[in-house]
Amino acid sequence: MAIATVNPATGETLRTYDAHGEEEVERRVAAAHETFRRYRTTSFAERARLMRRAADLLDEDAEDIARTMTVEMGKPITAARAEAAKCAKAMRWYADHAEGLLADEYPAQADVRDSGADAARVLYRPLGPILAVMPWNFPLWQVVRFAAPALMAGNTGLLKHASNVPRTALYLGDLFRRAGFPEGCFQTLLIGSGAVEAVLRDRRIAAATLTGSEPAGRSVAAVAGDEVKKTVLELGGSDPYIVMPSADLPRAVKTAVTARVQNNGQSCIAAKRFIVHTDVYDDFAERFTAAMNALTVGDPLDESTDVGPLATEQGRNDLEELVDDAVREGATVLCGGGRPEDRPHGWYYLPTVLTGITPGMRIHREETFGPVATLYPVSDVEEAVAVANDSPFGLSSNVWTRDRADVDLFVRDLEAGGVFVNGMTASHPALPFGGVKRSGYGRELSGHGIREFCNATTLWQR
Ligand code: NDP
Repeated sequence: MAIATVNPATGETLRTYDAHGEEEVERRVAAAHETFRRYRTTSFAERARLMRRAADLLDEDAEDIARTMTVEMGKPITAARAEAAKCAKAMRWYADHAEGLLADEYPAQADVRDSGADAARVLYRPLGPILAVMPWNFPLWQVVRFAAPALMAGNTGLLKHASNVPRTALYLGDLFRRAGFPEGCFQTLLIGSGAVEAVLRDRRIAAATLTGSEPAGRSVAAVAGDEVKKTVLELGGSDPYIVMPSADLPRAVKTAVTARVQNNGQSCIAAKRFIVHTDVYDDFAERFTAAMNALTVGDPLDESTDVGPLATEQGRNDLEELVDDAVREGATVLCGGGRPEDRPHGWYYLPTVLTGITPGMRIHREETFGPVATLYPVSDVEEAVAVANDSPFGLSSNVWTRDRADVDLFVRDLEAGGVFVNGMTASHPALPFGGVKRSGYGRELSGHGIREFCNATTLWQR
């Protein structure tokens, strides 16, 4: 894929960029390595000062960078502004909490003596330059949720962003530099995916994190495995949204729509499979379909737009194939199911609800990265869990019920990195984020996230 800004609302190529050549990549990797040697010794107070400055700059730039994101990947402008604000918040959260999250750990005195030591403790030391391979769907947030903890821990970062968001990628490199982080602390590499392997194999790169598709994750993890380098993978999801008879149905429906179409449906933690008890299935299906149908599809720069275009033409093709396959195999379209007729340009797709899904359909197993919901009726809580777990993915899950026994069972049995009860999955700096199964491994955010790229060092003394 060319490195280019192509407006998904029009299909127009606004600018193409030359990829960094080998020499430039070498210069940046060397800078990340050299800077790490000094930056790792800076105090938490100094890093926090720089991180807060970056957050302030981001707040000042919010409107500009929001428009850049909307023009590059099509998210509604209101969502883009919210994304910028969320990033500044996460930066400040890590500025406030990193030192505490990475404080030395002291084992029980009896265990210390039992180990033969007079004193023992665990120190969290930074690992080194980390390569971050990032996707376009939350082009600011995906990067910041890596960068804020990584930089606060004393690591340096190299960003290989998705090829369709180069402006946002360059902005991010610039932001940390402007905030005063030493040159080389956080840099953008303008490279295609084919150039990732060489960077990852470079002995100066300590570890990698990737958010994106399963094939991309597999490929990066295979190289990292060969080099025995740590990885964190945050891959796709096909999160269940379970609605039980005791649920507050109007709220469950309203939230279901947001959970499905946030970011034009292109979110890993979007609810994608709606698993509804038969007692309330017809009611839910009717209300949900009506609400999906009522969404405003349009120009993402327009404040009143609910759903903009998909980010890439390929993404729309992939989504169309999934829906067409399901329909060919017997699924029923309750609304949508195609492109909006009044939007001949750009990569729009109508909010769509499908029912009659069977296990043989691709849509049952694959991630729908766009505003397409699948409905499944179930007759009890056990069947709800079975349908929810019948997916290669295990990122997060959503359950709507007022029954405590239901909640206990879901929390015990759902194969997912999160269970959100009477709400929709959303990330927060203080809560770990990540999945199981094909959704990846490792965690971002919270103390779990900041420790992923640290060397938990045992200090044993006599
Ligand atoms: P990709 O996974 O291909 O892209 C994500 C990042 O990985 C980009 O920076 C990309 O670079 C890079 N990349 C891709 N392949 C490789 C590779 N073999 N080695 C190293 N880096 C690689 O996502 P797509 O944009 O192609 O989207 C495809 C599907 O992936 C979506 O439909 C969705 O299902 C899923 N996805 C999930 C996301 C999530 O948040 N979990 C985010 C984005 C996509 P480049 O852009 O240069 O190819």
